[in-house]
Amino acid sequence: MKVYEALRWASSFLQEHDYEAAIGERLLQHHTGWSRTRLLAEYHTILEEELVDKFQKDVHLAAKGTPVQHITGEETFYGRTFLVSSDVLIPRPETEELIEAVLARLPLIHNSSNGIPVKIVDVGTGSGIIAVTLALELSDSIVTATDISPEALSVAKQNAKRLHAEVTFLKGDLLEPLTSIGEKGSIVISNPPYIPEGDRAVMKANVVDHEPSLALFAGEDGLNIYRRLVKQIPKFLLKPGMIALEIGHGQGEAVKKLIVEQFNGATVEILDDINGKERMVISVIYE
Ligand code: GLN
Repeated sequence: MKVYEALRWASSFLQEHDYEAAIGERLLQHHTGWSRTRLLAEYHTILEEELVDKFQKDVHLAAKGTPVQHITGEETFYGRTFLVSSDVLIPRPETEELIEAVLARLPLIHNSSNGIPVKIVDVGTGSGIIAVTLALELSDSIVTATDISPEALSVAKQNAKRLHAEVTFLKGDLLEPLTSIGEKGSIVISNPPYIPEGDRAVMKANVVDHEPSLALFAGEDGLNIYRRLVKQIPKFLLKPGMIALEIGHGQGEAVKKLIVEQFNGATVEILDDINGKERMVISVIYE
């Protein structure tokens, strides 16, 4: 079978099962080890039978709902490749926007010229994408990450190691591993679970059946984690400080309210993602 024939077969097979044709390309890249450009340049190359077999098996898995990232074991985030497994949420491009929003606002709370590093905590780090990315993007930072799942922490630690990022990982509930030892810092960032339980029924099988519920759902209205986290923040946050949370569409005002109730005088922005959906709440607390 030639490259273009394999791709053509995969794209129609995937589309018949309501999955994107592009998954086929990604899987063939995975099996050949070729870049997308190389794959297109090799359109008429004949693929080895054994490779075609493995590729077709994977396309079948994808058509049944296995996320392509679980098949390849990786996903790109902020230009770097991270390991993923069924123990962690698959990195989403929306979370890259959260990182950008924090980097853009950093000068409001941090003076990078005085040599004092900024202390950041990533709460519920999952695969570690936020913590590792910030540690690598900000050389004058001290980054800690927490998660309640030991399996997730093990994935996050591997990612930090592979990407040479210095991050301290602590197992525990939200900020507790830090507040229990009196640790403080200037930035709390988190992409916590925020999907309302009731949405489970209407979500795509490749998400609900393959990604950890612990990372997705947060009570009846999806706000349970924000409620508990925001209560823990005063014990941790140095001023001026920043809180940066990923949220679901329609949760902006409720999360803003939680923050303002805890910190009167906080400035709170509700930001949309590139698709025009409410996706981030960023708050700066001066006093
Ligand atoms: N912080 C991790 C991420 O952004 C995990 C998020 C989660 O599990 N809800 O991917």
